[in-house]
Amino acid sequence: MAGYDHDKNIPNLPEKITEKKKKPKMVAVVDEDNCTGCQACVPFCPVDCIAPVPDGKYETIIPPVQIRFNECTGCSICARVCTKMTWDAIEMLPTATFEEVYQIELSDATTPPYGTPKPN
Ligand code: SF4
Ligand code: SF4
Repeated sequence: MAGYDHDKNIPNLPEKITEKKKKPKMVAVVDEDNCTGCQACVPFCPVDCIAPVPDGKYETIIPPVQIRFNECTGCSICARVCTKMTWDAIEMLPTATFEEVYQIELSDATTPPYGTPKPN
């Protein structure tokens, strides 16, 4: 996948959680059918926007994780962690592609609210 390098080493855990300020170039998307729910990626996200899928969607004991897209900075750390440590269940999509596929318009700190549905 263009735009990020799976072969880069796994980074250190973030020292503190930050906030997204600008609309990112890329957005992380979890393939929920491929995700084991191991949560290895969760502590590496510098903006803490990866969380288990809420109860009810899956009957499995360990649900997959999902990304709060509106908070994702597109840093790709989670994708690298997943590829290196577990399962390769995270894809980085260009933001324009993401918005088209999911019909969600991402925004940034200057144009809240985040993640508003696209008007028809
Ligand atoms: S590291 Fe990969 S398999 Fe594990 S929870 Fe994260 S996305 Fe899912
Ligand atoms: S790319 Fe992954 S690690 Fe980076 S902000 Fe988005 S969800 Fe978090």
